[in-house]
Amino acid sequence: MSFNITNSMKTKNFDISDLIRPEILTLSAYHVPSAANYIKLDAMENPYHLPKEWIEPWLETLKSAEINRYPDPHATQLKQDLRTMMQIPTQVDVILGNGSDELIQMLLLTFNYQGRAILSVEPSFTMYRLLAQVVGIPYIGVPLQPHDFSLDMPALRQVIEQQQPALIFLAYPNNPTGNLFTRHEIEEILQLSQGVIVIDEAYAPFADDTFMSDLLKYPNLLLMRTVSKLGLAGLRLGLLAGAARWLAQIEKTRLPYNINTLTQLSACFAMQHYEVLVAQTEQIKQDRALLLQQLAQINGVTTWASQANFLLFRVAQAITTFESLKTQGILIKNLHGFHPLTHQCLRVTVGKREENQAFLHALRQSIP
Ligand code: PMP
Repeated sequence: MSFNITNSMKTKNFDISDLIRPEILTLSAYHVPSAANYIKLDAMENPYHLPKEWIEPWLETLKSAEINRYPDPHATQLKQDLRTMMQIPTQVDVILGNGSDELIQMLLLTFNYQGRAILSVEPSFTMYRLLAQVVGIPYIGVPLQPHDFSLDMPALRQVIEQQQPALIFLAYPNNPTGNLFTRHEIEEILQLSQGVIVIDEAYAPFADDTFMSDLLKYPNLLLMRTVSKLGLAGLRLGLLAGAARWLAQIEKTRLPYNINTLTQLSACFAMQHYEVLVAQTEQIKQDRALLLQQLAQINGVTTWASQANFLLFRVAQAITTFESLKTQGILIKNLHGFHPLTHQCLRVTVGKREENQAFLHALRQSIP
């Protein structure tokens, strides 16, 4: 039987607002600006590719990829390699995500909110709020302290006691501020909360502290990591570690083959050469110190120390400076208008030494 599209069907006016969920209608899609032809210092990537001598062996590994078959749904080898390299306690379980973004989505899909909101602090990683909106969960963002971006404990205690959020996200170090919150304050939150605390350690490779071994101490702690900041952002691979009783539930929201074959093979290869990534991370940490020092010397620039691979700084006219940097071929992140606490703020990712110098040179030109 043939199917004819009649004229009336072709011209039918679908009522978008009737068919699409109101939460989605009010959202804007996540926008990533084009970075073509810029020195790219906007997205907290590792600026180094795999060393030249690893390219051939890596491609050799990919030759064995059976891309006609579905991937290993449990990514067994990769999980094992990640456990070893990231020193994940054997007593906890692990779930992998297509980036930690996907893990945040899985967490939000799993918990029972019963009218309770999810909680994070602000400014922090946009995806906690954005994905809560997508899933349709009320979100509370408690502002950080304006002077040093530390936790506002009186405000947090009040919200936790009154609202008992099912899920609390804390980025450690925090994005976009770069600081580590005080450990004993997070421990207090872990004790106070009747819900689950997710500590997002995306920037752990650059930080002096981790909650990894605390997974054994706190039954309501989950920990997220990603390989994105380690030089493997293109693979899209994140990891959630925690007690089996939570992860068995979260696993039910995972799409069966979310980690593709090429990612599994490439990430296993990278884990076998982990020392290369660690060396790159060490280089970035050294360059972060140098960049901070040089940035702080520029008149009219306020800087904050960072435990991540980026620096937040304030200038007199953030938008003018941002645009001027762009015309000089440097792409960083404008955070003016993102949150009141990032008023006149910009964020620069630590790049290669010569990229950092190009950025500093352009910045000096941008500030009268
Ligand atoms: N968590 C934080 C705090 C981040 O800043 C980012 C990326 N900017 C992510 C998670 C996302 O990581 P992934 O690339 O693994 O999705």
